[in-house]
Amino acid sequence: MASETAAAVKGTIAGGRRATAAGRRKRILRRLRELGSIGSALASTGHPYMAHIVPMRRCNLACTYCNEFDDVSKPVDIEEMERRIDALGRLGTSVITISGGEPLLHPELDRVIARIRKTGAIAGMITNGYLLMPDRIERLNRAGLDHMQISIDNVMPDAVSKKSLKVLDAKLRMLAEHAEFHVNINSVVGGGIAHPEDAYTISERALGLGFSSTIGIIHDGSGQLKPLGAEERAVWDRVRTLTRRSYSRFNHFQEAIANGEPNDWRCRAGGRYLYICENGLVHYCSQQRGYPGVPLAGYTTADVKREFLTEKGCAPNCTISCVHQVSYIDHWRSRQRPDATGGGMAVTRGHSGGAELVQIQ
Ligand code: SF4
Ligand code: SF4
Repeated sequence: MASETAAAVKGTIAGGRRATAAGRRKRILRRLRELGSIGSALASTGHPYMAHIVPMRRCNLACTYCNEFDDVSKPVDIEEMERRIDALGRLGTSVITISGGEPLLHPELDRVIARIRKTGAIAGMITNGYLLMPDRIERLNRAGLDHMQISIDNVMPDAVSKKSLKVLDAKLRMLAEHAEFHVNINSVVGGGIAHPEDAYTISERALGLGFSSTIGIIHDGSGQLKPLGAEERAVWDRVRTLTRRSYSRFNHFQEAIANGEPNDWRCRAGGRYLYICENGLVHYCSQQRGYPGVPLAGYTTADVKREFLTEKGCAPNCTISCVHQVSYIDHWRSRQRPDATGGGMAVTRGHSGGAELVQIQ
């Protein structure tokens, strides 16, 4: 059934992204800004490279593997969002990505994006894509969005996830036609996804439309780092071959995750990477909420520098690739020291516990 649907969906592929002069110009300028941000990160370790910020926790979907949403919370007031974004700007944050919940539910999202751009940062967004329409995409263009990521879990919606290619393909075609920002489509294996081969169909479709594509690993309810099954592993290898350019730099990290092996790396969360929850608190990451757990308004460059050098007990079994990629900038320098509070802070205070980390994206 899934493969029949996959064939039907693939049959709708018609050309790649529409290339406009405005889109080309934005792409060139975006790349220059990205190169500048990497240059400034190499020059100094005293500022965050990336922050994820949550403008509302509510989501219009309820994926069964997800621990990052609710169905009740209200949007964060826009003036408060702007204050938080300005605080990230003062810290020198290079990339600010809006996360959730579902960011498109926030009624003032365009103002949030414009404020990010006003700080000089690169503006990103992670969305399930359900609420995209041509005029909404045009508004995102005008607000100055630089990057969008949509995670698609399967070809047909099922009890685990409704983020399916069948539902979202129309949205992808709208993006191909109207978006002037970069679009990445993330497919997944693991976590109870019933048809691993769907990830290949999704990546192929994304590349066919002119988007970039990545693949992530979701672990099941126990959250333990463990190897992929044989079928999942075969699909994962095929997708990585398809999307080789996106993965060449971080293969060893992803490879260890797929094999269920620990990684030897220095997590720079709290320094290079910040996770700002809907209450305006700074956390290490989405899976280590609670530490440092202090208001962003009072977070200083001294905090950034301290956390940059603080070893995270949960690092070996971590599967959060975005933090790894950010930390990779500094992998060659600045050895870390154990947590000054006695060690194990990140493991014992984290939202899900260091031994039970769950990669969501
Ligand atoms: S994974 Fe994304 S779309 Fe699914 S419930 Fe979580 S926030 Fe919503
Ligand atoms: S789970 Fe631990 S190691 Fe992974 S990103 Fe979060 S703080 Fe860093």
